[in-house]
Amino acid sequence: MIKIGIVGYGNLGRGVECAVLHSQDMELTGVFTRRNPKSVKTHSDVPVYSMDKVYDMKDQIDVLVLCGGSANDLPKQTVELAEYFNVVDSFDTHAKIPEHFANVDEASKKNKHISIISVGWDPGLFSLNRLYGQAILPQGHDYTFWGKGVSQGHSDAIRRIDEVKDARQYTIPVEAALQSVRNGENPTLVTRQKHTRECFVVAEEGADLQRIEEEIKTMPNYFADYDTTVHFISEAELLRDHQGIPHGGVVLRSGTTGFEQENKHVIEYKLTLDSNPEFTSSVLVAYARAAHRMYQEGQHGCKTVFDIAPAYLHPESGDELRKKLL
Ligand code: NDP
Repeated sequence: MIKIGIVGYGNLGRGVECAVLHSQDMELTGVFTRRNPKSVKTHSDVPVYSMDKVYDMKDQIDVLVLCGGSANDLPKQTVELAEYFNVVDSFDTHAKIPEHFANVDEASKKNKHISIISVGWDPGLFSLNRLYGQAILPQGHDYTFWGKGVSQGHSDAIRRIDEVKDARQYTIPVEAALQSVRNGENPTLVTRQKHTRECFVVAEEGADLQRIEEEIKTMPNYFADYDTTVHFISEAELLRDHQGIPHGGVVLRSGTTGFEQENKHVIEYKLTLDSNPEFTSSVLVAYARAAHRMYQEGQHGCKTVFDIAPAYLHPESGDELRKKLL
């Protein structure tokens, strides 16, 4: 059995707990939190420990799955823990991945541990599919569409507006653009042509709704470059209709082959997720299995999804998997 520790108990922490409980080759050693462990209620009977206890339990943990936030937690936590444990994280600040990789690689190599960073679906499975597309169809174009799904960052940005009590923002791909890519037309698409944004806002009583809508629609970086729709709803409606965290998207590679580049090909990889965190956690757990196996083989240092052979992710052995190829 692969012994898993969870660091940080938010949406992903809960998702990892669930995914490990459903994995026959894994067991949970514990959840580690920076908060008072007594205040953290898990779904199962897994023990919750204070974060500083993790080092005493080194021998009881094969892989730590790090479930902290990308902005402030992981740049510190992954580097500190990679020195003493095999770790997997979901770091998703795309521009800072090379820097994070270098820091984690140095820490992992100190005691010959293995770490896999930026695991999830984007970055993660989407990155892998973009790589496959580029490698197989070098003459071509990449397209990524996100949604329909909740964007946490955009929802937070609306909540910061004066007289807004709560909000949920959905990112939605533009169907006509998606269809044009699927037809192999290789369109050049500006931001506004790829996605729309739909916002559900709970405002304070007597709030100036027109001003709030205007502030949302003109917010630079977040909404100004998109066609945005704003709906004002009650708190009860938000609770009833918008509690889930769905997401998903499509990665496409449209390319050509042939001596005259006369033959068109479109590769499409699509995710439709009821729960973004539960799906991301399931990806993290599969990569935790890979980390354990690669460590047992003596591999060490930092890796990304690009470096992990698919067979390491699957609970069955290479022998069993090869039978399925026939
Ligand atoms: P959360 O905000 O739910 O949790 C982050 C951390 O906050 C937890 O580890 C926990 O640490 C702390 N925390 C959680 N709940 C509370 C609370 N009630 N009060 C105080 N602290 C709390 O983040 P998510 O789990 O949703 O996401 C984590 C990261 O995963 C995101 O930052 C995102 O970047 C990344 N991600 C990556 C994806 C990918 O495809 N690569 C997809 C989805 C997410 P502690 O227990 O120590 O307090």
